[in-house]
Amino acid sequence: MARRNRARRGKVILVAGGAGFVGSHLCSALLDAGNRVICLDNYLTGSPANVRSLNGNPYFTVIEQDICDDIAVDEPLDQIYNLACPASPPSYQADPIHTMMTSVTGTGNLLRLAERHAAVFLQASTSEIYGDPEEHPQQEDYWGHVNCTGPRACYDEGKRAAEALCFDNLRVGSVDVRVARIFNTYGPYMQPNDGRIVSNFIVQALKNEPLTVYGSGEQTRSFCYVSDLVEGLIKLMNCQPNPGVPINLGNPGEFTVSELAELVLSKVASASTIVHAPLPPDDPQRRRPDIARARTLLGWQPKVALHDGLSHTIAWFQTTLAKQRAARRP
Ligand code: NAD
Ligand code: UDP
Repeated sequence: MARRNRARRGKVILVAGGAGFVGSHLCSALLDAGNRVICLDNYLTGSPANVRSLNGNPYFTVIEQDICDDIAVDEPLDQIYNLACPASPPSYQADPIHTMMTSVTGTGNLLRLAERHAAVFLQASTSEIYGDPEEHPQQEDYWGHVNCTGPRACYDEGKRAAEALCFDNLRVGSVDVRVARIFNTYGPYMQPNDGRIVSNFIVQALKNEPLTVYGSGEQTRSFCYVSDLVEGLIKLMNCQPNPGVPINLGNPGEFTVSELAELVLSKVASASTIVHAPLPPDDPQRRRPDIARARTLLGWQPKVALHDGLSHTIAWFQTTLAKQRAARRP
């Protein structure tokens, strides 16, 4: 059900998954830029709390809905961002069939909505479409190495199918589609219990609990601060002409999981130790984006170093955990 008034300014933009980690930052940035924003979310992995600070804004509306159901928006839309999909492995594996349907049926529903409104459409795809990559760093021309029957397939193959739907819509001329392949992104408003590496390590360090390194800890990831990602998404959405190809958005700095654990411990006054736990099946061993395409076509590159981004994120988690503790006190 839609809430808040429908006053119009700038563009009218629907953000599916707008109450999630990245989505809440995107809604905020789009409002700051003078647009009217409609956030559509079923709160599966997001939270009304993520957009609470936006609720007083007369140009912000929330629709609570699953994108797998029929979507109707009366107001004319200029742009649609599709971020609606659980992103952390424990979350997307909790109901794998719904995850797959979210990417396929849900993306299909949003593409039809975009077609009806002649709205430009941006799909939040993922570095997971490269699977456990055999090429390094990953360029957009690489077709990937995904296990289509494993426990990550609901997410990886769902996102691959969504990309196929997007490019078919582009080829037949029904929707002006853009596809961002997002690499690991972190920052404030991640759920503390979300299960991803950055939130896990920070929360564990702040609670003086052991940091859980899965496997040897030699596997690598590249970590992008959320404000950099949001800037890249907005540039891609507004880029003219449409690049017509997927674009990697991520920070090319590459760190092992053990290095990240040490870095977090060096920044938090903590009694935590490091423990090793089993490596989840099909866990990609190396990941780093080649961002030459984003640099050339969008004039985009990340600005926030991991050291600084972690400091902001740790400070936010400190405040959030303190509020949670205070709320539990009798
Ligand atoms: P998130 O889980 O915090 O946010 C996803 C949001 O989508 C949540 O608010 C959730 O409630 C909503 N949602 C999920 N399924 C839905 C459905 N069927 N209908 C309506 N809403 C639904 O994840 P995030 O990190 O903010 O990721 C946002 C998008 O970016 C996702 O599509 C994800 O696949 C993509 N992505 C993120 C990263 C990352 O590192 N954060 C990396 C690659 C791709
Ligand atoms: N990881 C870890 N400890 C944790 C959470 C994750 O060692 O508590 C590892 C995980 O095995 C993977 C990397 O960190 O190698 C990134 O995991 P995440 O779930 O954040 O994202 P993804 O695997 O989707 O890149």
